[in-house]
Amino acid sequence: MPIQPKHLDEQFAKCYGEPPRWVVRAPGRVNLIGEHTDYNDGFVLPLAIDRAIWIALRPRDDGQVSVYSIDFNQTKEFSLDNLTDEKSGWIEYIKAVAWSLQEAGLEPSGWEGILVGDVPLGAGLSSSAALEMAAARAFAAVGNFDWDPAGMAKLGQRAENQWIGVRCGIMDQLISAAAVADHALLIDCRSLQTRPVPMPSGVAIAVLDTATSRGLVDSAYNERRSQCESAAEFFQVNALRDADLELFEQLAHELDETVKRRALHVITENDRTLQAVEAMCRGELAALGTLMNKSHQSLRDDYEVSSNALDTMVECATAHDACYGARMTGAGFGGCAVALIDASAADEFAVKIAVDYQQKTGRTPAVYVCRATAGAEIITGAGG
Ligand code: ADP
Ligand code: MG
Repeated sequence: MPIQPKHLDEQFAKCYGEPPRWVVRAPGRVNLIGEHTDYNDGFVLPLAIDRAIWIALRPRDDGQVSVYSIDFNQTKEFSLDNLTDEKSGWIEYIKAVAWSLQEAGLEPSGWEGILVGDVPLGAGLSSSAALEMAAARAFAAVGNFDWDPAGMAKLGQRAENQWIGVRCGIMDQLISAAAVADHALLIDCRSLQTRPVPMPSGVAIAVLDTATSRGLVDSAYNERRSQCESAAEFFQVNALRDADLELFEQLAHELDETVKRRALHVITENDRTLQAVEAMCRGELAALGTLMNKSHQSLRDDYEVSSNALDTMVECATAHDACYGARMTGAGFGGCAVALIDASAADEFAVKIAVDYQQKTGRTPAVYVCRATAGAEIITGAGG
C-alpha cells in the first residue's frame, strides 16, 4: 500500500468540508552511483527514497490554483490565465510546472489543496524535484492528462531551469517521476531510456548529511563541465560517454594533466555504473560496495569534488561492519554521502556513524535510512 502522511485527509476535510478528490505523492531521491556523468551523456543510477511531497486536492473551475503548505503554514494562490514570476518561494515551483505544461501545449486547469512533505529542504535529496513532480501529478489528475514519466520529467526540468533559474540535469525529475518500488533506475542520460534495477534484498540505503554547505559548487561545476568538453574534443568524440579506457590509454599522455584526470573519472565512473547494475542483478553486495568505494576515490582524487567532511563521513561509514560501501553523492564540496548497508543493522549503524562523525568533525550530521520507493503516483482517488 502506498503511504500517505497521517491526517492529510482530515486536514483537507477540515479546510474544505469534504474529502480530497485525489492525494498525489512524488518522492525525493539519492544517487547510488554515476556522479558527474549526466552532463557527459553517461549513466546514473538513482533511487527514489521513502521521503516525499504529498498534495491532497480537488478541482476548481475558475482557473485558480490555491495551495496551503503545512510546512510553511502559508496559503498561496495564482491564476493560470496570467502566470507571473513573483519570486514568492515554494509556490513558484507549482507555478513553474503550470507554465511548463502551458509551454508544451497542454491546458492545465485549476485546483486547490494541501501540501506537505518530509524530504529535507536543501539537503541534496531534491525536495524541489519532488515538489515539481507532485505538482505535475496533480495537474495531470485534474486535467486527465496521460502520465508519461519521461515527458513530465522534462517539463519539470524545464520548469526548474527556466522559471526557478536552477541549472539541473534530468536525473532528479526523472527518478521522481519514473521510479519503481524496490528498484533503482539506470538512466541513460543521452537517450533518457530507463531500466529498473532490483535492489538486492536485505540492504538499506543510508543518506549521511555532513551538515556542510556546498559553497564552491557553482564555479567548480562549470569548470568541470568545460574540462570534460575539452577532453571530449581531444578524443574526437561527441561526449566522454563515447570514450573508453582503451582510447584513453592510447591518447591521454598528450592531454593536460588535470583534464586527463577529469576524463579518467568520467570514463571509469560510467563503467562502474554499468558494473553496479550487473552486481545488483546478481545480488553481489560486496562487489556493489566496492564500486561505490572506488567511485568515491575517483571523485576525491581525479575529479577533486570531495571535501574533508565528505571524506570523513565516508571513512566513518566504511569502517562499520554493516557497510558494504559508501561514497559522496551529488555535486560535491559538501552535502551528503550515501552508504549501502545491511538492513538488519541499520539503526545501530545510524547511531554509530552520527557519533563517530561528530567526534571527528565537531558537526552534528543527519542520517536518513531509506528504502527504494515508487515514483510519482496517485495514492487516493479515482481516474488518471
Ligand atoms: P533541494 O536540494 O532539496 O532540492 P532546493 O533549494 O532545490 O533544495 O529546493 C528547496 C525548495 O523547494 C524550498 O525552498 C521550497 O521552496 C520547496 N520545497 C521543498 N519541500 C517543500 C515542502 N515540503 N513544502 C513546500 N515547499 C517545499
Ligand atoms: Mg533542488
